[in-house]
Amino acid sequence: MTLRVLLVEDDRELRTTLQGALAVEGYDVLTAASLSEGLALLAHAGGPARAEGDPGIDMLVLDLGLPDGDGETLLATLRRRHSIPVLVISARQAEDQKVRLLDAGADDYLVKPFGIGELLARMRVALRHRGTTVQAALKHYEHAGLMVDLVAQRVERDGHAVHLTPTEFDLLARLVRSAGQVVTHRQLLADVWGAEFTDHTHYLRLYMAQLRSKLEAEPAEPHLLLTEPGVGYRLAEGDD
Ligand code: CA
Repeated sequence: MTLRVLLVEDDRELRTTLQGALAVEGYDVLTAASLSEGLALLAHAGGPARAEGDPGIDMLVLDLGLPDGDGETLLATLRRRHSIPVLVISARQAEDQKVRLLDAGADDYLVKPFGIGELLARMRVALRHRGTTVQAALKHYEHAGLMVDLVAQRVERDGHAVHLTPTEFDLLARLVRSAGQVVTHRQLLADVWGAEFTDHTHYLRLYMAQLRSKLEAEPAEPHLLLTEPGVGYRLAEGDD
């Protein structure tokens, strides 16, 4: 099945470059150069071949600074009705902005300028993530000597069992379920400790340090449990 991507980007050169690169990868690409155009395509992309309620697109790649408004408006409109993956591309790199967008339902955030290869990789992760949450949540993770089996609740490093406390395991399991994607501090705190703990970021720092000391070869230079400064954490994408 050909996946259809809606690309909303007002910079003509970047839009054309991305459209070409996505087409080469086999995506069917719809483009919009403004917020209003994006909203119109979102409302009508379904067409007669698509079922009722189907957005008609499989993924949204969204710029924020648009001539007639903010891309965030489009994200909010989309999220009221659809759960398709959304990848934000923007030159804005303020932390509170990234956090707000991720909390508002964006799957990932790429700061411009970025490489096409990274964009394509993050798109694949976001799409696969949605696919696996619909079918079955990811239960097994392997990468760079780390193995996590969520069913058996077993963690191994280089073939040797690692003992984790229940909270350490819960935190790692939450990251495994979103491997390759950023999970915000707020999401991690809510999912592991509970909704009333979303301001306790010091818990996260403490437990992440413990996890790194148990799982990383060089805890001070992590390759598995990655920091997204001011935003959250990302577990490196697992091997297929
Ligand atoms: Ca722009």
